[in-house]
Amino acid sequence: MRKPFVAGNWKMNKTVGEARQLVGDLILALKGTPDVDAAVCPPYTALAPVSAMLEGTGIGLGAQDLYWEESGAYTGQVAPAMVAELCAYVILGHSERRAYFDETDETVNKKVKVALAHGLKPIVCVGETLAENEAGQTAAVVSRQMQAGLAGLTPEQGAQLTIAYEPVWAIGTGKACDTNQANTIIRDVVRGSLTAAFGEAVAQGIRIQYGGSVKPGNAADYFGMSDIDGAWVGGASLQAEDFAAIVAAAAP
Ligand code: PEP
Repeated sequence: MRKPFVAGNWKMNKTVGEARQLVGDLILALKGTPDVDAAVCPPYTALAPVSAMLEGTGIGLGAQDLYWEESGAYTGQVAPAMVAELCAYVILGHSERRAYFDETDETVNKKVKVALAHGLKPIVCVGETLAENEAGQTAAVVSRQMQAGLAGLTPEQGAQLTIAYEPVWAIGTGKACDTNQANTIIRDVVRGSLTAAFGEAVAQGIRIQYGGSVKPGNAADYFGMSDIDGAWVGGASLQAEDFAAIVAAAAP
């Protein structure tokens, strides 16, 4: 049995003061759901204060990206050791980074490897655009992202991963993907790629989240599907009550 895992991507939202307020509310709201792993991914500036607040709560912390070099003259970048000092998780390959910041399958792969080397647990995002979906390329695109993004990893490293399948057209649009359609891609393409890369036993243990307009009102529909092990939540993670309701819906 895979323990459900719900993570919130705050994106470029929340000052330190606002982050403190939201996390304070979340700590109270999430008290009754120990059977679900929950994590939040604030902007870099809020990681240190949020990390201090989360100590001992069981709520995980993730960064939204990292750079693959260890240190040096890379203005504006954040090194893996800096992230690992504060976080258990790191988001890699989010579609907004792929679309606006030149992230490629190859840079995702470099980041995954360096994150693992620093003891971080990568949450690797994959998903097709609307044009790719309409052209019938979903399976090919997601399969390519999985193979290239995870190339060269051992099964032991594979076991540290979480995968978020997020159809790009469903992110922040209110157009959530049909639950059967999402489960089919997750089961056949995402878990299928994990099986090919790491073997059946490891692939069956890796958690795969669905992301894209998950709200309190539709979350349970996803969690009822065979291969969806949690949610990757953007907009609804900015309200403690909504995020807590999604986490509660994931409880077995
Ligand atoms: C996301 O941030 O990747 C996301 C899924 O956002 P939203 O839940 O707002 O669609």
